[in-house]
Amino acid sequence: METLKEQKFAALDTKREFYQLIINGERKDSLNGGVYTVINPATGEKAAEVSKASIEDAEEAVRAARNAFDHGNWRHFPVNKRSRTLNKIAGIMRSRFNELVELEILNTGKSLAAAQGQVMQAIEDFEFYAGAIVGHRGAVNSMPGSFQNVTEKEPVGVCAQIIPWNYPLMMAAWKIAPAIAAGCSVIVKPASPTPLTALVLGEICMEAGVPAGVVNVVPGAGSDVGNFLVEHRDVDKVAFTGSTAIGKDIMAKASQTLKRVTLELGGKSPNIIFEDADIDAAVDGSLFGIFYNSGQSCEARSRLYVHEHVYDEFIAKFIEKTKRLKLGNPFSKDTHVGAIINRDQLNVIDGYVKSAVADGATVLTGGKEAKIDGYENGFWYEPTVIINVNHEMEAVKEEIFGPVAVVMEFKDEKEAIHLANDSQYGLGSALWTKDHARATRVSKQIEAGIVMINCPFSAFPGTPFGGYKQSGFGRELCIETLDLYTETKSMISYYGSRPLNPFAL
Ligand code: NAD
Repeated sequence: METLKEQKFAALDTKREFYQLIINGERKDSLNGGVYTVINPATGEKAAEVSKASIEDAEEAVRAARNAFDHGNWRHFPVNKRSRTLNKIAGIMRSRFNELVELEILNTGKSLAAAQGQVMQAIEDFEFYAGAIVGHRGAVNSMPGSFQNVTEKEPVGVCAQIIPWNYPLMMAAWKIAPAIAAGCSVIVKPASPTPLTALVLGEICMEAGVPAGVVNVVPGAGSDVGNFLVEHRDVDKVAFTGSTAIGKDIMAKASQTLKRVTLELGGKSPNIIFEDADIDAAVDGSLFGIFYNSGQSCEARSRLYVHEHVYDEFIAKFIEKTKRLKLGNPFSKDTHVGAIINRDQLNVIDGYVKSAVADGATVLTGGKEAKIDGYENGFWYEPTVIINVNHEMEAVKEEIFGPVAVVMEFKDEKEAIHLANDSQYGLGSALWTKDHARATRVSKQIEAGIVMINCPFSAFPGTPFGGYKQSGFGRELCIETLDLYTETKSMISYYGSRPLNPFAL
């Protein structure tokens, strides 16, 4: 078997026919020879073949990660050395930027602009944590008498990192960068449809000098490989990004071994347009808020609430621009909305739209599968806007995870806040107003981890990202994330001149 070590850890070409697992610093076939085909969602054609991890491969990955953590030197490296390695990973990614973008598009069918932004952010995540880890340290705490308390931050251990298909490289970076910066070892399980860029990132980590076993990547089924990692006694932490339903299952199972758990789950984020908003800016920001990444975003602003005085103007402009959104060649810089990940997800989206219509809603535009010349076998859905909805409808309550906006009117600030918070989820939210006092007042009352004020963007390295309520807990992308990959050890010492004799014997 060819090992990365023998090749001086050189990563292969980014785009190729066949991708292997990354276990213990080596590219490996699955132990049972399992292989599966990954589809390009834009065309429905084969994108590549991939080794499919089995339970035995996952066990080997856990052993490698455990061994690297317990007996390896990564966690003991001076922090500057770990920091340099993270910067090196970022440097290699920068030098292969276009290749990574191309591969991400091939595997997801997302638009060029979306893929470019996400690959750039993945790079910046490594750069951010290369810096952040240097300042992430313990403390000397004040104590009474002749005592001293020193706290140290120690890596939490072996981390299973389970990621979804909507942002394959970015989610892998959000997970791997803080974990290895902190000194942990990781086993990354990409979503089955989208393993390619996570596998290449694993190779780049090796190329940059991350020791064998610290980063392992095992694409396989969630129900067996994912579940196996969650239940494994030698895994100390599970960091999961995915649906709320699977998150609940993971939390229950992880409790059996009291693993540390962080959960980044689904959302149904509100987007409030007040009567004093800059309506054109609100229209443009709201379009991006729901149709970016084809609506396959956890923080997609999918519930629009528009003040009754500006409703007609907003809707007219919003529909006019929705109709102008371009679908098609994902590699074109003019494409706004890319493909849907697969046929199953397309059916889920269409099912929600049909259920809304059956419940009495009105589709103003879209509402069906998109047929695009040259992409007839791919998976596409028309950007869709639905009105005449209410909070009893499934399409308003549930995460659709597709390019579908539901729009309602409101009368006043109090009602807007009530509607925004009337959801099991609490990930993103947005509001549009020129009144600074209102923006602050409303932001404070919104039950969500992120509030975007006159702004369509939600994720920047250094800015906490995560949810309230059933959107999960724990924050990613920020300094606080490092706390979630470390344990705090309190060391208490006595420096008095007389020996202590607490029992006075
Ligand atoms: P999913 O929950 O179906 O799968 C996510 C991952 O979990 C995949 O790797 C899957 O193989 C694995 N998995 C499935 N069953 C498992 C099990 N029983 N045990 C362990 N692992 C298992 O989600 P998805 O469809 O891949 O992604 C879409 C979801 O992800 C949406 O709900 C979206 O909101 C959410 N998401 C959240 C964030 C965030 O930051 N909050 C970011 C991106 C996506």
